[in-house]
Amino acid sequence: MPVLPADTLDTDVHIPALIIGAGACGQVAALTLHDAGQPVLLIERDPVPQGSTALSSGMIPACGTQLQAEKGVIDPVGQMRGDLIAKAKGESDPAIVERVCEVSGPTIDWLTGEKGIPLELVDSFTYPGHSVHRMHAPPSRTGAELMGALTNRCATEGIDILTDAFVTDLFATAESAITGVRIARPDGGVEEIGCDALILACNGFGGNIDMVRQYIPEIAEAIYCGHVGNQGDAIRWGETLGAAAADLGSFQGHGSVAHQHNILISWALMMEGGFQVNRDGRRFSNEHGGYSEQGKIVASQPDALAWDIYDTRCHELGLEFEDYRDAVEAGAVIQADTIEGLARELGLPKDALEATAGGVAGFAQGLGQDSFGRDFTKSPPLAAPYFGIKVCGALFHTQGGLVIDTAARVLREDGSRLPNLFAGGGAARGLSGKADYGYLSGNGLLAAVMLGRIAGQSAAALLNP
Ligand SMILES: Cc1cc2nc3c(=O)[nH]c(=O)nc-3n(C[C@H](O)[C@H](O)[C@H](O)COP(=O)(O)OP(=O)(O)OC[C@H]3O[C@@H](n4cnc5c(N)ncnc54)[C@H](O)[C@@H]3O)c2cc1C
Repeated sequence: MPVLPADTLDTDVHIPALIIGAGACGQVAALTLHDAGQPVLLIERDPVPQGSTALSSGMIPACGTQLQAEKGVIDPVGQMRGDLIAKAKGESDPAIVERVCEVSGPTIDWLTGEKGIPLELVDSFTYPGHSVHRMHAPPSRTGAELMGALTNRCATEGIDILTDAFVTDLFATAESAITGVRIARPDGGVEEIGCDALILACNGFGGNIDMVRQYIPEIAEAIYCGHVGNQGDAIRWGETLGAAAADLGSFQGHGSVAHQHNILISWALMMEGGFQVNRDGRRFSNEHGGYSEQGKIVASQPDALAWDIYDTRCHELGLEFEDYRDAVEAGAVIQADTIEGLARELGLPKDALEATAGGVAGFAQGLGQDSFGRDFTKSPPLAAPYFGIKVCGALFHTQGGLVIDTAARVLREDGSRLPNLFAGGGAARGLSGKADYGYLSGNGLLAAVMLGRIAGQSAAALLNP
């Protein structure tokens, strides 16, 4: 992804603020710039903006929101910051984490209030590592609904999204001030647009197998469930511009994707009493450690497979999610009246699965201690009929990226700012520290939405000091 000399830019088209990528990060940044009265253009490689955002469950964590207040949830900034820092074992940038948490509540209130984005507080279960209910999601629990609502809002406000527009090159001065971009069109056409500020909202490198093999080889053989357009362009431009990148070994994995159907099975099933076994019918981990690190753990099981085992109560919770309903529709979810019947249907060893289920039932009643350290007493024992799904581990998105300051401005290795370059979402260094274990549920959209908001505000301030 070349960076070309500023004096080779050849165009009469000039828009003060350009944004590469029209996922959640890009669209939130665009709405923010538009509110500030700045002309802005989103540039998106796909015919319809979707990105990884549309593939997600649309769960955005935030603290101190009006939706939380209405349900009596008390969630100060310090509590959310503490949860994020603890999950990342103190390896994330504390200043960025603090800033993101600070803006999270006002940003969700702005999206639901002023912008009419349909979000509700998810209060039917708590994701691992979150002290309280703080996930905000569209009613369908899909990122597709979130993307639809954001794109409609941009259209209503008259914000242009240039689609089928793949940014191949940036133009920059010797001081790394961005002066414009070059775009390739599907028909082979090439266009150039000048700008005064650029926001990189083109996510990470999950779709680029060479970069995945280079930076996170441990998950390279797992399936990738994110958007294929996320090719690491931001990081490669950043390298050429002299920007710093960090935590490139960090990623969000997932330990529960329906095998062959490639449908995300919500971790809510595990949080509410379900458990995972391997081909031998035996548990192999504490399922409450976090679904991200579980991706690698499942991938390391025999045949790289696991089975989610749960009951009707969990199944009904799963039905809240469109993805899960799709999995039921696709025949991925198997039901049986007994554990023996379930073992037969799933092709698992009967005796081992019965022994495992019996042990779990005992733990739920407070009998004995789980050797993996999970506390099963928070949910009632599983009850017939039982359910099972064959799942695999997956890479969802990468978490490393360009180093930014608390204003989402891209930094050089020496800590100085590039003149007019901003980054957010998967393009920027994430909130999860160095590895998969640092991913607290929702860190992806948290970085996309909140850093999009911050980048939009900072770009507007730069353009109109
Ligand atoms: C199955 C799944 C479920 C998930 N669930 C959740 C969840 O519930 N909560 C959560 O917090 N996170 C979740 N995530 C992670 C979350 O989806 C991402 O972290 C988030 O969507 C990133 O947003 P973004 O705006 O940075 O990138 P994206 O939404 O991927 O948008 C980037 C856009 O940039 C475009 N682009 C890239 N390069 C170029 C270029 N050179 N020129 C033009 N356009 C370009 C792409 O086409 C894309 O549309 C999930 C991920 C997956 C895969």
